[in-house]
Amino acid sequence: MSGAATVATAWRIPLCAPDLGPLERAAVLDAFDSGFVSSAGPAVERFERAVAARVGVEHAVACASGTAALHLGLLAHDVAAGDEVWVSDLTFVASANAVRYVGGRVVLVDAEPSTWNLDADAVRRELEARLRTGRALPRAIVAVDLLGHPARLDGWAETARAHGVLVVEDAAEALGAHWADGRACGAAGDVAAFSFNGNKLVTAGGGGMLVTGDGRVAARARHLSTQAKLPGVGYVHDEVGYNYRLTNLAAALGLAQLSRIDEFLAAKARVATRYAAALDPLGVTLAPSAPWGPRVHWLSCVMFADAPTCERVLAALLEDRIEARPIWSPLHRMRPYDTCERIGGDHAGAIADRVLCLPSSVALSATEQEDVIATIAGALRRG
Ligand SMILES: *Cc1c(COP(=O)(O)O)cnc(C)c1O
Repeated sequence: MSGAATVATAWRIPLCAPDLGPLERAAVLDAFDSGFVSSAGPAVERFERAVAARVGVEHAVACASGTAALHLGLLAHDVAAGDEVWVSDLTFVASANAVRYVGGRVVLVDAEPSTWNLDADAVRRELEARLRTGRALPRAIVAVDLLGHPARLDGWAETARAHGVLVVEDAAEALGAHWADGRACGAAGDVAAFSFNGNKLVTAGGGGMLVTGDGRVAARARHLSTQAKLPGVGYVHDEVGYNYRLTNLAAALGLAQLSRIDEFLAAKARVATRYAAALDPLGVTLAPSAPWGPRVHWLSCVMFADAPTCERVLAALLEDRIEARPIWSPLHRMRPYDTCERIGGDHAGAIADRVLCLPSSVALSATEQEDVIATIAGALRRG
């Protein structure tokens, strides 16, 4: 057995394993038997239509990854070298990498404690200050719906749009989430990206989806995702494109998984409820959920009283071969982004130091979860 495989199977309780059953198996075998294993094939288009319908947007373009979807979203709106783009500081690195791919200049926006998403008040204040002083506005703002919580858009998104600032929604972690007003995550920005990576709520093995209400943006993203090849049998390309299409095999898996999304959301909500019931009395709180934008519980994350406690609990969980992880490291702490200009304070760092992601698989049993909780309680007592 390879070293990697040993590590992968060493966890007694994994963080977030996909739930793959007979439905998924049959879908992948069907796609296999159809002979359409690559990016031509009926499942790709069906997957696109299913995601568009679920999110309530007109257009969806299947991509090789969520990162590719973000990249295409920026390219299709002509975000280009030197353009200033604001990005949530507390996010998975892909949110900002996509900006760098187009040569954009990343400015990091702090997180707000009430949602852990970009600090909407800081964004509003900075936009207003720039409008007052005449300093140029950013070309785009990437709002991340972190860990399944809708980003707060009030106070800034309308202003941004009114002044031609592109609003990009990184909804990679928020498939199935809605604002309380009924809009789905992914439907609020000019363009949004989802991910179907292995540990996301719905997986295609790997993959992503760009969604947009703008047919021209969708067409341009699709064109760029297929090496900018012109229609016809010849190999004629009218610009530098990318090989970013999703395969039919992956789409078949994604489609089968998507049909089970409500089952997944319910299972993850049960997991979160059990963590909350057991850990709340110990002073360990679940990630916040605002009434105007309740979260979905793709990944249950909990906040400890302080950083040392958080570290002690993480060590205890790992010791018991329970896979837990710190939340994403704020981008400003990482080398590619540590010199970026920043907007707002440093809540992102304070949150990250105290938060762990806990096992949240769809198939996590009550017994396994009691095991996780017992380890956490034990570590807290030893403090
Ligand atoms: C997973 C994720 C992505 C990237 O998706 P991939 O499919 O892994 O490329 C982007 N942004 C966020 C916030 C994510 O969690």
